[in-house]
Amino acid sequence: MRICTPVVAGWFTGDGDGFRLLGTRCSACAAVFFPREDAHCRNPGCSGGALQEVPLSRRGRIWSYTDSRYRPPSPYVTDPELPWEPYTLTAVELESERIVVLGQAVPGVTVADLAVGMEVEVVPGVLYEDAETIWTTWNWRPTGVTK
Ligand SMILES: [Zn+2]
Repeated sequence: MRICTPVVAGWFTGDGDGFRLLGTRCSACAAVFFPREDAHCRNPGCSGGALQEVPLSRRGRIWSYTDSRYRPPSPYVTDPELPWEPYTLTAVELESERIVVLGQAVPGVTVADLAVGMEVEVVPGVLYEDAETIWTTWNWRPTGVTK
């Protein structure tokens, strides 16, 4: 049996409907950070507060999107022996936090399936797998609701 390992530790947690991205929130100004900020609040108008881990909204709306038709450089993990499979990259504005989070769309979703403003939800995804390990990440999946 292979081991599932998050590609970045501490950025997401849970399975299925309980899957959530993890950010941090400043106790002084309530600013939310993703990727998580654990050292200092980055709000220039804030004198600094404690940074607490918070699960982020599961849903958001597409702010922008594109696809990647070439192999990214390291540290992107990819097997150079395999043909490059294009993927769809989305920038999603989270429902509550109103911050924009990048991520790949679920496999099979192309730019032709997406539109700015379309609602998506975060789901567990696989970035890469080898004989021993499945490297997990997050993907964005259209909810089928568009406004
Ligand atoms: Zn702050």
